[in-house]
Amino acid sequence: MTNDSSMPENFNISNGGGVKRFLLDLVYPNRCPFCSEFLPYDRLCCEDCFNEVLWTDELICPVCGKPKAGDCICPVSYSRCITAVYYKGTAKTAVLNYKYRSHTDAAILFGRVLHDKLMMTEYARKTDLAVPVPLSPPQLRQRGYDQAELLAREITKGTDIPVANMLRRKKPRTEQHELSASERRAASAEQYSFAGGDLSEKTILLVDDVLTTGATLDVCSEILLRNGAEEVICAVIATVL
Ligand SMILES: [Zn+2]
Ligand SMILES: [Zn+2]
Repeated sequence: MTNDSSMPENFNISNGGGVKRFLLDLVYPNRCPFCSEFLPYDRLCCEDCFNEVLWTDELICPVCGKPKAGDCICPVSYSRCITAVYYKGTAKTAVLNYKYRSHTDAAILFGRVLHDKLMMTEYARKTDLAVPVPLSPPQLRQRGYDQAELLAREITKGTDIPVANMLRRKKPRTEQHELSASERRAASAEQYSFAGGDLSEKTILLVDDVLTTGATLDVCSEILLRNGAEEVICAVIATVL
């Protein structure tokens, strides 16, 4: 198995620049997702932050995406989980800013890391479709953007993998973080459903922001498999320690 748990070697923090980035920077100054400092228009984050962030490593189980020591939740219904960072320190701040404070540029950086990691695996060629874990309609209205969908679009950039919203989510009755692990699983199973579309014999890349207990990914992956998908792999920005 390829070791896709660790950061790709030679990862480049330049965003490629270009006229569009330059012009955008005049209107929306480019900021580091980790420390919020202003950045040159062609950078995805500052070098110090890049070196300090806790990128996930070989201590993460490549199958479930949780730390191997003690937290591994295998067996799970998906067969691989690619992660970018540990949900800790500045990485946690970046994810929270991305989810709740419209710092959507983080999708470009994390999307690139996850893209590069995906490309290191056999799934680079096998993946047929990317499906984001959806928000409920009220959550989407309130936030104005779907962070998992933006991330899915960045991960698949430069590939011919389409992004399709094939899952649906009902408004949660209780906020997930107030629930225990087993309650989360029951709540997830109740919340998510299949929205329709052709999944037959397809390998699906399921995309979400944070991997907490793994219940959401496992439940969503089960739904995709039940509706015809051949295999599901996952990509998430952060894994909770
Ligand atoms: Zn920084
Ligand atoms: Zn595992």
